[in-house]
Amino acid sequence: MSGCNPTIPLFDLNYGQEEEEAVLRVLRSKWLTMGPETEALEKEFAEFCGVKHAIALSNCTTALHLANLAAGVKNDDEVICPSLSFVATSNSILYAGGKPVFADINSLNDWTISSRDIERKISDRTKAIIVMHYGGFACDMDEIMRIAARHSLFVIEDAAHAPGATYKDKRLGALGDISCFSFFSNKNVSTGEGGMICTNSDEYAKKIRLMRSHGMTSLTLDRHKGHAYSYDVVCLGYNYRIDEIHAALARVQLKKLYDGNNLRLKAAGIYKNGLSKIDQITIPFAGRADRTNYHIFPILLDKSVNRNDLMTYLRQNGIQTSIHYPPIHQFSFYKNFNVKQDLPLTEYVGLHELTLPMYPGITGYQQDSVINFLLKYFEK
Ligand SMILES: *Cc1c(COP(=O)(O)O)cnc(C)c1O
Repeated sequence: MSGCNPTIPLFDLNYGQEEEEAVLRVLRSKWLTMGPETEALEKEFAEFCGVKHAIALSNCTTALHLANLAAGVKNDDEVICPSLSFVATSNSILYAGGKPVFADINSLNDWTISSRDIERKISDRTKAIIVMHYGGFACDMDEIMRIAARHSLFVIEDAAHAPGATYKDKRLGALGDISCFSFFSNKNVSTGEGGMICTNSDEYAKKIRLMRSHGMTSLTLDRHKGHAYSYDVVCLGYNYRIDEIHAALARVQLKKLYDGNNLRLKAAGIYKNGLSKIDQITIPFAGRADRTNYHIFPILLDKSVNRNDLMTYLRQNGIQTSIHYPPIHQFSFYKNFNVKQDLPLTEYVGLHELTLPMYPGITGYQQDSVINFLLKYFEK
């Protein structure tokens, strides 16, 4: 790596003094888990998302597990989900005892789950559909909800990429029966670990609140306040709670989300413009009208491009890139499931996708550097 090149990470935190103060506020309060910060975060997140209930959890993987349980997934029930996603999407089905059935993406331009393939893969064992709003681009929710209603299926949104993005003026995460968000370090709302479930159903919300904390009928805080002395356990629960430090960080990050997403949109415009001259690169999701949040900036490389070689070249020049995603059904562990797959578009994107650096604080100088190294690489 030559000394004068900038080091441009795939992602950089949008953190400042506000986050430091939020953590200190919790430390000084001496109440570390499931307290006023968590309560406030849930209220603020429900309002932000436009849903009745928001339930904060330890991460999005546990949120997805509880969503499957709330949907009643068990005993080899089939759940249709994308393979072009993070492995937690389908692992959550296995945790509940269900069986993932993968559906392909729409096209080489639209990488969200195909409603036509969903419908093709419905059987009399199908219980639910998990959609994933890839990169903050909405799935075809009107059609997917119609299919779900026709076959009495439950719809879970894996909204890990999606905070702040919309579909026909509604927030992603407010469209299915239950939605799951992630506050992992590299997500648009970052706290390290953390997650959220949103739903409009009182029944699911009640179930999920119980399962989050051992199926117990009263919380430590209620007992601390003298509101309760004992408790009952009414279902099989878990410890999937968030703690006050993460909840406080999430509140600050939620306040910064709108501006952060705007900066991402602006950065995406710069990439689109700068990369339009390179024939070997196409940028997916062309022609989208909804507001996205550019959780990531994915590009599709021409078949002729050696992706590993390109990634090494960029790395040597201080630019970090990634792949979203190696398809789940091609992992060794997943070869034990689903004998016939038929996911040609997912496999194609899995081979030729490249993710460029994207975060609210990315500078024009850094983006020019990424664009110029790509131009130089393809000049050869
Ligand atoms: C990050 C991510 C998850 C998992 O989130 P955690 O909070 O790390 O458990 C699930 N699904 C998708 C699509 C993700 O990107």
